[in-house]
Amino acid sequence: MKTKQINFSKYSSFKIGQIEEVSILEELNDYNDKFYMLGSCNNVLIGTNPPPLMILSKKYDYIKIENNVLKIGAATPSGKVASYCKKNNITNFEFVSHLPGTLGGLVFMNAGLKEYEIFNNLISITTVDGEVKKQNIEFGYRFTNITAPILEASFLLNYGFDVDKVEMFKQMRANQPSTPSAGSCFKNPKGDYAGRLIEEVGLKGVMKGAMCFSNEHANFLVNNGEGKFEDAIFLIKEAQDKVFERFGIFLECEIDILENPSKGI
Ligand SMILES: Cc1cc2nc3c(=O)[nH]c(=O)nc-3n(C[C@H](O)[C@H](O)[C@H](O)COP(=O)(O)OP(=O)(O)OC[C@H]3O[C@@H](n4cnc5c(N)ncnc54)[C@H](O)[C@@H]3O)c2cc1C
Repeated sequence: MKTKQINFSKYSSFKIGQIEEVSILEELNDYNDKFYMLGSCNNVLIGTNPPPLMILSKKYDYIKIENNVLKIGAATPSGKVASYCKKNNITNFEFVSHLPGTLGGLVFMNAGLKEYEIFNNLISITTVDGEVKKQNIEFGYRFTNITAPILEASFLLNYGFDVDKVEMFKQMRANQPSTPSAGSCFKNPKGDYAGRLIEEVGLKGVMKGAMCFSNEHANFLVNNGEGKFEDAIFLIKEAQDKVFERFGIFLECEIDILENPSKGI
């Protein structure tokens, strides 16, 4: 099986991590469940001792239309999906223009902005185990029960790219920091906002090393320079403990923490 060295302090959106040997999924039998499947690392925090990592080969980076269905390879970057839809006047994917990731990562966690989620127009996915129809997948807010690597997803094809929506999504992002992060650190608890709770317990802007919950948006854990994994973990635990003590609410991580053994968060 092919492998490649990836420097996660450059590759990951957090700009945290070391150089790791990553296996490349080219053929179906390259995969076994000891591997952790990565997309473009916009929603993960790489630890000092991560599990064996795998990425999809470029073979899964494509977009095609077949029998009036839009088929997208799971390694396709979101920016490429957005450009393709704009060029071909396809609608319902305007929101991905401001969502960093690969199609596989977007589908795995049902990524989205407000009510615009990638599952809205999904028909089915193809994983290493074969095709799974949407009705056989459990999904919700930043959640799916998918366990196998996604290779391709099929979507309803609708025409009428909406430039105004792109602008609306850009505006929704206006209060979010551009400093390296992995997007929202915690899922919003039902009826509340993780950012509000973090601010209430006094953690907004508090630094640990180069890491802090951003002054622009408290649910964004940002790396102001040479941020370290341990500092990120410290702040995540601190937020969980303080919010639980004060409000009795457990803040569930939206980002995935890759460390063996797990840090118990
Ligand atoms: C600045 C910023 C803003 C963001 N804003 C938002 C937002 O508004 N809404 C939102 O939903 N997200 C947001 N995110 C998070 C990120 O855009 C999404 O989580 C995206 O889906 C990550 O895709 P990825 O390819 O980078 O996946 P990764 O971060 O590499 O992986 C994320 C998860 O997907 C799984 N995965 C990846 N590829 C596959 C595959 N082929 N098969 C199976 N599982 C796979 C991984 O195992 C992991 O559990 C933001 C991130 C950043 C950095």
